[in-house]
Amino acid sequence: MKNILVTFLLFLFGGTYTISIAQSQEKTPVHVFITAGQSNTDGRVNNKLLPSYIKELATDTIDYKQGQYPFCKISQNRGDGLFVPYWPKGRITDGLWTYDAITYYQIDKALREDFYVVKWAVGGTSIGFPNDTVKGRYWSANPEWLKNTASSQKKGKSLLLSFTEAIDASIDQTLSKIEQGYHIDAFLWHQGESDDRYAGDYYKNLKAVISHVRTHLTQKTGKNYLNLPFVFGSIPKANRHYRAEVDAAMRCIAEEDANAYLIDMSQGELQKDRTHFNEVSAEYLGQEMFKVLNQILDLSSTGFRVAKYKDDKDCAISYTFDDGLIEHYTLVAPRMEKLGFRGTFWINGNKINKDATAIADTTRMTWAQLKEMSDRGHEISNHGWAHKNFSRFPLEEIKEDIYKNDSALFAWTGKMPRTFCYPNNNKKAEPMKIAVENRVGTRTFQRSIGSKSTPEDLEKWVNNLIKTNDWGVGMTHGITYGYDAFRNPQRFWDHLEKVKALDDKVWVGTFEEVAAYTKEQKQLTYEITPQKKGFTITPHLSLEKSLFTEPLTGVVMGSKKVTVRQGGKKLKTQVRDGKVLFDFDPFGGEIVVR
Ligand SMILES: [Zn+2]
Repeated sequence: MKNILVTFLLFLFGGTYTISIAQSQEKTPVHVFITAGQSNTDGRVNNKLLPSYIKELATDTIDYKQGQYPFCKISQNRGDGLFVPYWPKGRITDGLWTYDAITYYQIDKALREDFYVVKWAVGGTSIGFPNDTVKGRYWSANPEWLKNTASSQKKGKSLLLSFTEAIDASIDQTLSKIEQGYHIDAFLWHQGESDDRYAGDYYKNLKAVISHVRTHLTQKTGKNYLNLPFVFGSIPKANRHYRAEVDAAMRCIAEEDANAYLIDMSQGELQKDRTHFNEVSAEYLGQEMFKVLNQILDLSSTGFRVAKYKDDKDCAISYTFDDGLIEHYTLVAPRMEKLGFRGTFWINGNKINKDATAIADTTRMTWAQLKEMSDRGHEISNHGWAHKNFSRFPLEEIKEDIYKNDSALFAWTGKMPRTFCYPNNNKKAEPMKIAVENRVGTRTFQRSIGSKSTPEDLEKWVNNLIKTNDWGVGMTHGITYGYDAFRNPQRFWDHLEKVKALDDKVWVGTFEEVAAYTKEQKQLTYEITPQKKGFTITPHLSLEKSLFTEPLTGVVMGSKKVTVRQGGKKLKTQVRDGKVLFDFDPFGGEIVVR
């Protein structure tokens, strides 16, 4: 903590960072990054086109094939665990670079201390593999397949095993011997062009790769890497290997995985081969990757970051209830309110009773009850007017069904629904495009909480969310009757009490709140400018201001007496575990921290 504060003060007074030598006993673990992918990660831009700030570090000033970064050490496509000073080069030939050269350069400048990169990249390689795998090397994490092959390094077909074996060797040979210890900070990745043949499997395939690496690191080190940040870039639309399905898979993973950060490269420029980044897009991707890393890891040691979840909690849970059952009003809402929680209730307007004197369906709520719940802070949102299965109706009909429900909910509650829940969880591409318009999010993943839930399962779910810093979305229908109703509703009430006891770790928010927060948090960028006393933060957010209204939590480390102002107004601060927390408006302009 002290170390952070000292570095922080030095940053403020524009001093050098030499103090870190004097502070050697208190040094934090060295930073380690792991990088993998195909040709756009290996590097295909000529070193003569390196930005001038990197050329300055070259010792060969004709072809720029030699030189070294002051602090970055790399172990690239080698299985012996040894590192050399970093200079951009391709796997086979010197004199080629890509985005990571920029990212490491900026990390180098921000940290000003040794850090390590383990990289494995091979051009033209897919995750998916053909049925006939006589030739080739693949990234697949398919456990059956992995059992029957070896790493490409050992003449097998698995690139993933080459990558994890290289990481293991780096740990055994080098990293574990570093006195101050080490920490693997992030996984950088760009790949997918060669999966144009397996586009339909890309979602499943990439997810498995990420999970394989996180689990492997956790098992190898005994430390929790299940929440390892995964930072990746999409494929430019102009790329001849671009596939909409691969692109959609990447976006889906970025939305579902709280620790996955996707950089949109859809407009990226390419070389003449229509496959490889040119110097402009390579530099852009590298800079954007650094921005993400800097914001999640605070590499510049400014002492400031934006909390992943409200109040800097470890994870978030949204409890969602489908179909407008009367029990949601009589049982669920009061129970949740008692604990200070609010739920999300997904409604089909055609099933809601007009008023108490005209109950058409005794199992459902009335509009007045919905209005009451909305006024008390619950989210009342759109599940389609008539619960139509999207795969069975013409698009026009679905459109009308969605809009009709929006209008009814707006008329009765005074609030426009900003989320959507697919009837039958049917996520057909064309209707989905309509459903996501003017929303902060739609339910694309969920965990059933109902008839099959045991106390053990629920506890495991929550513990895992805490460990992986994820967002859990519960889906509940019946409480004592109806679809998937609990065998014993007490189980659910007990679960809610247990979650309440974890208040310092778990944020229980409505679907709209958490969807808005996490999107804003991932997309926010900011600059920090040191001032005489303190610093200013200038936030930028390109989301739709009228939809994304959730305040974000700012965190300042290692300071006690901090005042924060935004737009001339003093923001409320709270001190917890040696950090100062405050909520700010991401669209509210400059924030002054003193
Ligand atoms: Zn439903």
